[in-house]
Amino acid sequence: MIKREPSEVIDDALRKGVIKIISIGIDLESSRKNAYYASQFINVYTAMGFHPHESKKMNDEYFVQLEKMLSTPKNIALGEIGLDYYYLHSSKEEQKRAFREQIDLARRYNLPIIVHDRDAHEDTMKILEEKAKNMKVVLHCFSGDKSMAEWCVQRGYYFGIGGVVTFKNARELAQIVEEIPLENILLETDSPFLTPSPFRGKPNEPKYIPLIAKKIAELKEKRISEIANITTENANQFFGF
Ligand SMILES: [Zn+2]
Repeated sequence: MIKREPSEVIDDALRKGVIKIISIGIDLESSRKNAYYASQFINVYTAMGFHPHESKKMNDEYFVQLEKMLSTPKNIALGEIGLDYYYLHSSKEEQKRAFREQIDLARRYNLPIIVHDRDAHEDTMKILEEKAKNMKVVLHCFSGDKSMAEWCVQRGYYFGIGGVVTFKNARELAQIVEEIPLENILLETDSPFLTPSPFRGKPNEPKYIPLIAKKIAELKEKRISEIANITTENANQFFGF
């Protein structure tokens, strides 16, 4: 496959009405790369942090470096952070420690957190309950059940909704999206993964975001323009653009 230039990806997104892009870090190196893109492109912002897969890398020295990088211009969130018990690329203990310490860090810098949770719902909720009181939290690519969704709504947490909602077998997520307030929804890619239908199998890009808005519009029986406006306003509020 031909590698696409960042400028092409961004131009295609703009043509589809996707104005702002947050490029998310999984470790120091990717966070640094994102800061470079944010410095080059006016509509690109960053989130920085150690992904659960990379939690084992987060020693004291790297933690200090992450803390310094959080003040980089256009860094607007800490993430993605959280727990992934599906792959276990880092041990559960390493993941929980990195998750807790990064939540504390986000609180000190008054940053929203972008949370990754795969097959770790119970511990994710436990740690959020213990550490993230009154913080801005988005569960990215939300994969919990209805009771977890309710739990999140009660706490004012946001739901990152991506390509999965367009998949035929994602019935429970579709029902959850139907029921949760539109005011709690943010649209996301999880690029390069989870490309919405009918482009499954291709690398995901911000230009596909309108397909997710369209699916949500169907589920909520609203116009796509309303979904676009409200989720954009949600993102502005959540990230403080
Ligand atoms: Zn993730």
